[in-house]
Amino acid sequence: MKDIATIATTKEILEKYQLGALKKFGQNFLIDINIIDKIITSVDINKKTAVIEVGPGIGALTQRLALQSGKVISFEIDERFKPVYRDYLNFDNLNIIFGDFMEQDIAKVVLDLREEFDQVYLIANLPYYITTPIIEKVLLSNCKIDKIVVMIQKEVALKMTGSLKNPLMMMIEDMGSIDYLFTVSKNVFIPAPHVDSAVIAIDIKKEADLKLYEVLKVCFKQRRKTILNNLKQHYDNAQEILDNAKIESSKRSEELALEDFKNITKFI
Ligand code: SAM
Repeated sequence: MKDIATIATTKEILEKYQLGALKKFGQNFLIDINIIDKIITSVDINKKTAVIEVGPGIGALTQRLALQSGKVISFEIDERFKPVYRDYLNFDNLNIIFGDFMEQDIAKVVLDLREEFDQVYLIANLPYYITTPIIEKVLLSNCKIDKIVVMIQKEVALKMTGSLKNPLMMMIEDMGSIDYLFTVSKNVFIPAPHVDSAVIAIDIKKEADLKLYEVLKVCFKQRRKTILNNLKQHYDNAQEILDNAKIESSKRSEELALEDFKNITKFI
């Protein structure tokens, strides 16, 4: 079987099926098999693992995922890839579903996979225009996924694994942990994007506290405002909530820690 993730095979497929990369779908195809191996070995995938993939493209990562894991369910928005899958991705354990990932009932998909597999992971080279919405959707759907390993823009990866504070990052801190795995040069894609990429891993240990998320969104709504002023927009007894939670009302959300927001949530 030919590896799809090489310059020669990728060019062959793109030419044979007349597939120009569509910018609107964030299409940059991986052409380095070493990067795919690095992703797979960093996650410890085996036949007891089921994988959900967003955006298989022409199948560079999908092919390896199908070979190494027990089952792969890939969601692809672009139906032009149909003949590529027919000719290059002939795996019994692979199910490619055409549609927008953002519209899928991901909790149901994971629940079904859980009946048969020990771990369920989301592994993908994400379309960069919807990186954050995809991660947010998976985390907030409480879909019982164990791990998210995704390639995203390096700059975003650095922010997410650095000191960035926002509702999503606070939720990740509450639910598990996030790690920067490695950098990926922009030169290992066709077409090459403008910036380098990176692979991050999010380990999920507990469900999303959706009440906490609502509070976080209120608290971070206007970053330059104090916590009191943000809370006041939504809760008449904002000062009382802060007093109970023992938080100074002049602080801004960025100065507070996860435990503070959990305390606020407790008193709302
Ligand atoms: N996995 C392939 C690879 O690594 O070479 C392609 C990755 S490419 C960066 C992103 C893929 O996501 C494209 O195939 C694109 O069509 C697909 N895509 C974009 N938006 C999507 C969406 N909302 N739902 C599902 N797939 C989407």
